[in-house]
Parts: sequence; C-alpha cells; structure tokens
Amino acid sequence: MNIKKSLIFFLGCLVAALTMSPGSFGKEPLKIRVAIGCDLKEVFLSVNGPYEIVDARTRVSLMHGRKLSTSKVAVVPDGLKIKDKIFYTDAITVIQKKSASLVVNNRSYRGDISIFKESDNKLLVVNILDLEPYVKGVLYHEISPRWPLDAIKAQAVAVRTYAIYQKEMMKLKNYDLKADTSSQVYGGSSSETHKTNRAVNFTYGEILNYSGRVFPTFFHATCGGTTENAGELWKFSKELEPLKGGRVCSFCLESPHYYWKATMDLKMLERKCAGVYKTDAELKNIVVAERNVTGRIRFLELKSSGNSSFVISAKDFRQLVGSDVLRSTNFTIGIESGRVVFTGKGWGHGVGLCQWGAFGMSKKGYDYKQILEFYYPGSELIKIQ
Ligand SMILES: [Zn+2]
Repeated sequence: MNIKKSLIFFLGCLVAALTMSPGSFGKEPLKIRVAIGCDLKEVFLSVNGPYEIVDARTRVSLMHGRKLSTSKVAVVPDGLKIKDKIFYTDAITVIQKKSASLVVNNRSYRGDISIFKESDNKLLVVNILDLEPYVKGVLYHEISPRWPLDAIKAQAVAVRTYAIYQKEMMKLKNYDLKADTSSQVYGGSSSETHKTNRAVNFTYGEILNYSGRVFPTFFHATCGGTTENAGELWKFSKELEPLKGGRVCSFCLESPHYYWKATMDLKMLERKCAGVYKTDAELKNIVVAERNVTGRIRFLELKSSGNSSFVISAKDFRQLVGSDVLRSTNFTIGIESGRVVFTGKGWGHGVGLCQWGAFGMSKKGYDYKQILEFYYPGSELIKIQ
C-alpha cells in the first residue's frame, strides 16, 4: 500500500471508522466489488459453463446459455453490446452458474462480473465475489508465498480488514476497491497459491477492530526502524491508536530495503520538481527543513543559485521524484559533482504493518496475533463471518 493508494482514502479517512461496528454485518457471505478494468473501450469475456446475463440495476434476465465463447463487449449508443446482441441498459451482470469458469481478458475470476457503461462511454468492469476468495486473490501479490505462514496470516487479516473498511466507505460507488496498487493488487483466482489460501482459511472471517470499529489497516514493505504515525500523512478527524506508529522495529533488519541509496542529476531533479520549482535560477541544493520524531522528513527546502528557496513536503517530493526511487521519506542528502545522493532507510509510508517486520517476527516465533498486536497496538481481532 503506497502513497497513491493513501490519497484515495484521504477523504474517507476524515470520517474514519465513524459508523462501522461488527454488529452491522449480517449472516450472508460478505461480497466485495473489485474494479478489475477501468476506462476500457472493449473487454473480452467467456464463461466455460452455464451462465446468465441480467440487468445489473433491475436483475431482469437478459440472456442465458450453457457456455459463452470468448465475446467482445463494447459500448453502443443505446447500451452495451456482446457480440452482435445489444442490451438496452447501462449495466449488466454476468452470473456464472455451478462454479463455471469466468474469464475476463484472459484472467479467471470467481463470482460474477458487472460491466458498466460510464458517462464517458468507457467500460468499467467489476468482479463481485465473496470476501474470502477476494483475500486469496490479493495475498500472492502483496506478500511472498515463500514467507512463514504467520506473516502471511497477519497479512491476510490486514487485507481483509482493509477491504471491509473500503466496502463501508464506497457504498455509493460502483465498486469498493481497485485491483491495482491504488488499493490492493488483486489478480482473481489465477493468483491463488496453496500456501496463501491456507493462511486465508486459517484466519477465515477475522478482521481488526478498534473501539468496536473497523479502521484502514495500512501496511508497507519496510519501516526501516520505526513505524510512522498516520496523522503525519493524512488528516484524521481523530487519531486512531492502532495507526499512531512509533513502534521501534528491528524485525525488518533483514529486508533488502532496510537501507537504500539513490542518485540523480540536479538538472533531472529540477525538471521533476518543475511544478514547484518555478524560477530560471539553477537548482543548487536541497536541504532538510524539518524531520518528525520517527526520523522521517516533513519538509525540504529547494535552494537556487539566485538565493531563492522553495519549501516542499517530503511526501510530495517523493511523489514528484518517484516513490520507487525515493523509497521512503527517511533519508539524508549529499551533493557530489552536480549529483544528488539520497541515502535512506525503509520502503513505503511506514504506517501500520511492516511486512518485512512481520517476516522477521514470524521467524522469531511470534504468531500472527502477536504480529498484528505489535503493528496495530490496541486493536482487537474479531470474527465477522
Ligand atoms: Zn519494520
């Protein structure tokens, strides 16, 4: 979960966890709506078994059959078209019967697929499936299946909690989460592995709560020594204890991202910061203006040869330079012959679960509940289904 993702939740976080309680969940298996394709002109769909297509709004049956060979779905002026058949609606749902295999653009999915004709005449494709197979379709992308089982279990609970949080926040939208790094990377049933599925089954229905409410269980690759306070990145209406950070973590020392280095020409840096650095004078230096208690930088100062300077938040600076180049905001700066050398620690925003820390803890014998308690202090593990 990176900065991009976090921006998406910015507004949601303002009212974080105000209305959710475990009592609000019913007995029906919880469904998650994942946007697996956005702004598409066309999509290819097949169902290897019995299926039905219904109007997604009215649930009126539009078409059914024993098998749907690969068919192109496209927008037409009056609605949606599959092969040569036009459906006069702006949203359809393809339901697979008897666990038939549903394939969208060469990837297999469990559950149903809804296709929306958006206002810009593009297609939005949404996979609607039960919560548990959703978590299974995410884990492989967010953690290595080769890691110890308890690290994977901790990740499964974080992924499941995050999905429930999003489900509440996105009630009025056509989907709860995206399938890419802006939410949690989800690859459908094609992404499941035996070991990650075991971790999901073992923690079936378990999510984290704080004061009886679900909260956004942010996670990151490597904290690099101390976890971060979510309030440093996003303005919460009220600080949430499990996301206040400050956990001193030596468990991620084995991470290949614990220490990192990046170098870049000053000229290149000037170009990347062009939106902020608005002067003809050359960029000459970058200095740290303020650090927070965890050692991460809050503000940087870009200094020109003409003695003017610009202050920029480290969060924005990292986005401008590239979050894969500057892996965190915890770094020092050196200038050597026109090149800037960033020497840093950790990868990601540092809020919540440190994935390499979970790896380290599980290798030392801690179980997933202890890992979750360490990285989300004060939270409570509950079972919702
Ligand atoms: Zn760590």
